[in-house]
Amino acid sequence: MKKKKSLTEKCILGATSRRSFLKGTLAAGVAASVPLGFKSVHAWERTNFEGNYKIYRNACPRNCYDTCSIKSYVKNGSLEFVEGATESTFTDGALCVKGFSYPRRVYSPDRIKYPMKQIGRGTGNWKRITWDEALEEISGKILEIKEKDDNLLGMALDKYSGNFSITHYGVEGMMSSLGYTTRFVGTPCWPAGIDAQNFDMGNMWCNDPEDIVKSDYIIIWGGNPAWNSVHTMKFIYEAQKRGAKLIVIDPVFTQTAAKADIFIRIKTAQDGALALGMAKYIVENNMHDKDFISKHSKGFKSYEKYLKNNVTLEWAAEKSGVPVDVIKNTAREFASAGASTIWIGYGLQRHTNGGVNVRAIDSLVAMTGNVGKEGGGARYGHLQTWGFNYNAMVQKKPKGSKGYLGEKTIKSEFANDESGKADYSDRTININKIAEKILTTDNPPIRLLWVACKNPFAQDFDRPKLKKAFDKLEMVVTVDQFFNETVENSDIVLPSTTLFEEYTVNASYWHYWLSINEKAIPEQYEAKSDLQIGAMLSKKMNELEPGSCTFPQITDTKIWMEKEFNDGIHKLFGIKSWKDLKNGPKKAKLKSTASWYDMKFGTPSGKYEFSSDLAADYGHTKIPEYKSRREAYDKFRVLTPHTQFGLHSQFVNLDYMEDFNNGPFIYINPKAAKNKNIKDGDTVKITNKVGNMEVRARLTDNIAEDVILMYEAWYKDLKYNVQNVVDDESSDMGTFKTGAPGVAIHDQFADIVKV
Ligand code: SF4
Repeated sequence: MKKKKSLTEKCILGATSRRSFLKGTLAAGVAASVPLGFKSVHAWERTNFEGNYKIYRNACPRNCYDTCSIKSYVKNGSLEFVEGATESTFTDGALCVKGFSYPRRVYSPDRIKYPMKQIGRGTGNWKRITWDEALEEISGKILEIKEKDDNLLGMALDKYSGNFSITHYGVEGMMSSLGYTTRFVGTPCWPAGIDAQNFDMGNMWCNDPEDIVKSDYIIIWGGNPAWNSVHTMKFIYEAQKRGAKLIVIDPVFTQTAAKADIFIRIKTAQDGALALGMAKYIVENNMHDKDFISKHSKGFKSYEKYLKNNVTLEWAAEKSGVPVDVIKNTAREFASAGASTIWIGYGLQRHTNGGVNVRAIDSLVAMTGNVGKEGGGARYGHLQTWGFNYNAMVQKKPKGSKGYLGEKTIKSEFANDESGKADYSDRTININKIAEKILTTDNPPIRLLWVACKNPFAQDFDRPKLKKAFDKLEMVVTVDQFFNETVENSDIVLPSTTLFEEYTVNASYWHYWLSINEKAIPEQYEAKSDLQIGAMLSKKMNELEPGSCTFPQITDTKIWMEKEFNDGIHKLFGIKSWKDLKNGPKKAKLKSTASWYDMKFGTPSGKYEFSSDLAADYGHTKIPEYKSRREAYDKFRVLTPHTQFGLHSQFVNLDYMEDFNNGPFIYINPKAAKNKNIKDGDTVKITNKVGNMEVRARLTDNIAEDVILMYEAWYKDLKYNVQNVVDDESSDMGTFKTGAPGVAIHDQFADIVKV
């Protein structure tokens, strides 16, 4: 009989060796690094792998477009390797490099193994404590806050999408079960675009990405799917093979641009000007779809009037940096192709004018009759398959809880005081202003911060201010898997499970597949899932003060997962119960692959609204008028997009990923570098009003002369952090649907000098 690997062996070697990991990724073509390679790995699956493996169904929860359906191979309780599920025509048997590295993530020697307490925040003086000691100390602090303030508003939750599985909303439920607390609302990702699409169409709803094969003309505007939605690329290639034309509009020559028929370099944040110029040309040349406009839209006449009086092609060219001829050709081809579509990337709405720019792009798709058409559409995202019970998220407050009584707050979705005597709510704060709000919120101040599914030091803005904010807090509890900078600035760290150590369920905001996530291996070391932590905290709270926490003390994640399903989900996916998903992911039964196929828009008029009164109610122009971009506050524009081999601070820290990441760089155009006497490989200091940082330079003409670019990532042994030079300026939209405006991540400026 074969000897079982000890935990130490797993730690040192990993269940998959580095060599076999690299071999596996190369064999799979690793779409992320070689997009065209995807074609050769169609439905790649190791079906003939020797050995007695137990196969489990999992799903990648990393808030990536692709939400891959995973097949996990387990032997003797050890996760040996993973691959994409072939049942999903979207995942189609392949993962990206990050996905293939999952076994190493599970067995990484760097993983946090037990609860730990730091003696003196930031000192690095950590000592191992038991779960009981950790929960006793945290519960004691919660009760102390309640005693001192007569409420729990001094406790705040900083959570986002590090794990996007449905039951992880149980962290919000855990907070509700303690009382009225402080919540950071909104989203840093895509709020301006969500509002824009809601003003235009009454919801955010995109075509099935697989139907892009039916497109004749594809514009990818401000997105780089060759890096961040590798699985959609095969449908784009298929469309190209059928004769579709691919246009990429971006300030950066990306890997997706390299695959395009035409790359259009646009000045950053001038997308609205280009879209308006194209609209002007289409209307002037009578190429708009009068049938769609008359039957299914509202306000086109005022839009037409605005274009006539305010837009010229020369103006659009000057603003956007795109020559008049290119504007004309692109507009003509887009309007006259059979099915034309625009994929609107999230980067382009991360500006002070991002929302209105998305509205201008939407209008191009609508006025040419491409909304509601298979192969067409303004593709941004959707939540059509997210109709779960959110049972874990919605929890009752303990009896007698007191909360926020102020008027100017966004009421959270969590119930008010059950007695009906007081209209209490949670206290809500813009998630994109966390540092500032921790520093300035009073009556009561924020005393205890709970961090889950997020690494604020890597993701939140204005890192120097965030450090000051953390220093002000009385206690910071972080639930994580690795010792990142947020953990370094915490008092207590609780080890969390990986996706392979719990049951949950995963939907996508891009494709229409649903995947179950099974517990494939036991919880490693002393790790617990977010739900288990909530259950254990509830037990401890009730021991110390009976009735102080209502969170169900259920530690079996399978039970939690089962509670998320309902008849609507069953019907949509054609399943009888979640158990059907054990045989593989299922796709929603779509009446059409096109969003808005029935032309029943969710706007107040029930039509597509070129002119939106609702937008005006939220302080925006009724029609998508041109809005100037943020004024430069320093010499170069700083862009900080996501990196190819990581998601925020996840994955890049793994030793196996070193072969794909050869360190951080700042990318500079050679002409700009020459003016600054900077050579390839020089160390450069980047300085602006937010802070400064140092990193090696790499020269490339993939970016314009006035732009410097650094990828957002966490390298565990380096101080590199792009949030040192990114402030928390708001984008224009987001308040309507997400409760707070987005953040102008790409409206940042800085100067550089050779060190
Ligand atoms: S990171 Fe994205 S592409 Fe990679 S495995 Fe996860 S969902 Fe798939």
